[in-house]
Amino acid sequence: MAKPKHSTYDIAVIGAGPAGLAAAKATAQRGLRTLVIEKNRIGVTGKTWLSFDEAIEAHGLSGVERGRFSSVVFSSYLGNVHRCTTKFLCPLDEKKALLALAEQARNAGATICDREAFFNYREENGGVTIVTEKSTYHARLAVDSMGSTSAILPSNGLSNTHLDMGCLSLFLTNASGYEEDTCLLYDSYFPGRDYFWIVPMGSRTVMAGIFFFSTLNHSNLDEKLAKLMSYIKARKLKGLVTERRMGNIPLGGQKHMAAFPFISFGDSANTALPSSGFSFSRCLHESRTLASFCAQFLDGKKAMRDYKTMMLAEKIPGIEVHLIISDMLSKFTDQMLNKGIGGMGVFGDEFIIDFLSGRDMSLQFCVKALKAILKTFTISEVRDLSLKQEYMKHLASIYNLLGAVPEAHLGKQIMQTLQYLQIHEKK
Ligand SMILES: Cc1cc2nc3c(=O)[nH]c(=O)nc-3n(C[C@H](O)[C@H](O)[C@H](O)COP(=O)(O)OP(=O)(O)OC[C@H]3O[C@@H](n4cnc5c(N)ncnc54)[C@H](O)[C@@H]3O)c2cc1C
Repeated sequence: MAKPKHSTYDIAVIGAGPAGLAAAKATAQRGLRTLVIEKNRIGVTGKTWLSFDEAIEAHGLSGVERGRFSSVVFSSYLGNVHRCTTKFLCPLDEKKALLALAEQARNAGATICDREAFFNYREENGGVTIVTEKSTYHARLAVDSMGSTSAILPSNGLSNTHLDMGCLSLFLTNASGYEEDTCLLYDSYFPGRDYFWIVPMGSRTVMAGIFFFSTLNHSNLDEKLAKLMSYIKARKLKGLVTERRMGNIPLGGQKHMAAFPFISFGDSANTALPSSGFSFSRCLHESRTLASFCAQFLDGKKAMRDYKTMMLAEKIPGIEVHLIISDMLSKFTDQMLNKGIGGMGVFGDEFIIDFLSGRDMSLQFCVKALKAILKTFTISEVRDLSLKQEYMKHLASIYNLLGAVPEAHLGKQIMQTLQYLQIHEKK
């Protein structure tokens, strides 16, 4: 555990998962005096198995991969299969990745105190006093990066369970029965809305998992575990189960992102993107916006409410299409998933990677994606699955929030495009 260098900091980051470490690195790199508090040892809290090559390289983290996939396969038990052969995804050694990020944060000047749990806070002297189980620290602003079970959320009367995606996985060692360079994602193997994956993790280790669009909790754990075991058997995977990992990925729109003295980041902020499932890269990417906000806030140039606007503005207009698809996916029937996988070949790997990674947020991409959706599904399928439901409400709240941001108009253009395509298709 590091000895704190200062009695007072510009930024106190609570929680050192991907979000906290990426935030600390970015704020320290901007010259802000940064303190990180983590209750565990750095690197032991991992649950991130896959990430995008591009994000890893861009953030100087090469070497944290466990290997390479030559192909990523999506499949449906109803018959359709799509194989992406462009290399874009890799299995992560999350411990290595978190240790490397921590090293980068320290090199930039951040102080990291691990094995020290955050306990409480009080607003004081224009900033915040952070009370841990071992000490107290003063900072001008704090970042809540304690993840989806953050201790701060309930104190604001909130929980992060809306629209969760439950995940459960088993690590098999001495494994056999899988393709070593192929990652199987979104494998709907049985009827129902449970999806499976098989991710080779190097040196005869494979991870098999199940995910589903509801929260994993005590009442469904045994049922999901039994389903995963029957999937492993049916796919003829063999190996010794050495580890079980589970949790929930928040997919819902976050109402709370900033209430002085805390701003939320990472899973505690829960910014409604389906790429939440690939949050390692998202944390890396968004940390720069967070650091920019922190610097401007401390200079008196930004107010707390600007934080959410800055984060969302970066994703407009791309967020609309992600929201539509996220909402659709959470309501997909087996038949629709099969249809969706069948349609993937038409649009090519680049399109799939752009969507999964959220790297292209341009209006052109949105229109392309909407056309792709409408080419694959009928208007009534899209309308029934998505546009009449939560998506519309969510979109409205984003527009309200971004009323003053010119890019928000692009969102309206997307809706107009959609209406145009709708009319066009009817003719
Ligand atoms: C089962 C599962 C599988 C996933 N798979 C992938 C994947 O393959 N690829 C991907 O990119 N993303 C994946 N994700 C998503 C990704 O892991 C998360 O989005 C990411 O970890 C979010 O990072 P975070 O730092 O916000 O939260 P977390 O990783 O949850 O980190 C929170 C940190 O805060 C610390 N903390 C909590 N309370 C306190 C306290 N009181 N005091 C001090 N410290 C505290 C915790 O110990 C922890 O280190 C997966 C998520 C789950 C649940």
